[in-house]
Amino acid sequence: ACEYIPTGPIETTQCDFETVESATDELYEELHALVETPFFKYFRADLYRDCPYWQENGFCMNRECGITTVDESEIPERWRAAELSKIEMPAGDQRTELPGCYYRDSDYCFLDDMTEGDYIDLTLNPERFTGYAGPSAHRVWKAIYEENCFGMSEWDVLPSRSPNVAAAALPDSMKKALGNADAIEDPKECLERRVYYKIVSGLHASISTHICHDTMNQTTGEWGPDLKCFISRVAAYPERLQYIYFDAVLLLRAVARLGPYLTAYDYCASGTHEDDAQTLARLTHVVDIARAVGRFDETALFRGANAETLKEEFKEHFRNVTRIMDCVGCDKCRLWGKVQTTGIATALKVLFELDEKALDPKANTNLLQRSEVVALINTLHRLVESLHMVQDFRRMWAESSAED
Ligand code: FAD
Repeated sequence: ACEYIPTGPIETTQCDFETVESATDELYEELHALVETPFFKYFRADLYRDCPYWQENGFCMNRECGITTVDESEIPERWRAAELSKIEMPAGDQRTELPGCYYRDSDYCFLDDMTEGDYIDLTLNPERFTGYAGPSAHRVWKAIYEENCFGMSEWDVLPSRSPNVAAAALPDSMKKALGNADAIEDPKECLERRVYYKIVSGLHASISTHICHDTMNQTTGEWGPDLKCFISRVAAYPERLQYIYFDAVLLLRAVARLGPYLTAYDYCASGTHEDDAQTLARLTHVVDIARAVGRFDETALFRGANAETLKEEFKEHFRNVTRIMDCVGCDKCRLWGKVQTTGIATALKVLFELDEKALDPKANTNLLQRSEVVALINTLHRLVESLHMVQDFRRMWAESSAED
């Protein structure tokens, strides 16, 4: 399964796997440097909100679940809450009240209210194995698939699914025997629903890839990649790997559309112009690659007679996913869950809500909040990093096969 390298077009995009593969190393290098800069590494999140859906008691007691926060004084002054709330709270900004907390409504996402929460240096809290698992983690994933995927869930779809049995590879007779097995790839299934499933499944696969690449051997206490973990969670289900590429293309398309806005953005942290110029140069390079590789065709979605209803449904479901992150019982997982669902939500907003005029940085200087820009670039970094990690796993697989 680890030898598997997808080829050909990535479904519902105008891009193929080979194109993404050819750009992965270059993209990864630029993004990896970008997310270490002051602008992109500080994220503010409120990690202590009530779960709006159920009583969450499953808090993770493992040391690895914890996060390190930074004091406000370490944050460049212009990005602190007081300054941000001046700039980022336009008149009439809507806050949505839910049990125990407020969220700011941002189309596809509920953003944490910037008046509360901690500053986190994302580089000090890498997404990796934390030991968070079991009923609490499963409940969150189940809620994301079942309650939000327009009724589609792998639990329903393939309850007894075993590795190596990709839905697309199943003969029709077997699909029937397994129940509603073709719901994942049935071309008759509405395009938007399939896209929705891919987005969530791709995110899940990317998180699993990070866990397996940076995992702790429970016996020796040593950290490193675990090939078996990657095979059993991702590689044995080729479509999961394909959806990581799919998510990467979706975000790259959003970055390409946002190009003029992103390159006009002020990343100046402290007046060290050399650093700021380099940040801009790297970002410009990422935008250039995104223009070449990010061939997601957003115009193919939400076209039919009930397009607006479907879009509202899609939006509502994804907003719920961002809220479900408050039910994740491990701080570090919740942090990265929030970053990545916000990043994807920002991409969806850019693709489906904003026209060229709205994207014009001169006409719309406050188009996105800083947290949205930070989340978008960090999420793209996570996805491309997953593809980079997949290359490591392929090498490990080749080495272990050569030894046998
Ligand atoms: P899970 O990954 O929990 O999956 C549950 C079921 O979903 C599987 O049995 C399978 O049927 C299905 N499934 C799995 N992958 C896919 C896919 N790609 N597409 C479709 N269906 C799929 N743990 C950490 O160690 N570090 C983290 O940073 C971390 N972050 C998390 C963030 C979030 C938002 C959540 C909900 C959980 C996070 N976890 C994290 C927990 C982690 O994702 C797993 O839940 C945990 O490792 C247990 O894994 P599992 O093998 O039981 O299957």
